[in-house]
Amino acid sequence: MAKEYQKEDLTILWDSAKCTHSAVCAKGLPNVFKPRERPWIQVENDTKETIRQQVLKCPSGALSIKQVL
Ligand code: SF4
Repeated sequence: MAKEYQKEDLTILWDSAKCTHSAVCAKGLPNVFKPRERPWIQVENDTKETIRQQVLKCPSGALSIKQVL
């Protein structure tokens, strides 16, 4: 089951089972993706669009954008 993180109308999904711990997210946007902290995704620290762009770079698909139907 993926966890959900909300930033305005953007819902970020994180599926821990898919995460390969490549740290692409933490290196690309360290103010938001903080694996050592809880919550580890701190959406308040950057803009929706910047976060969306970083989510799309996740190589494993662990991070994704929830599609609104
Ligand atoms: S970029 Fe994706 S696979 Fe890599 S650590 Fe972040 S969530 Fe996990």
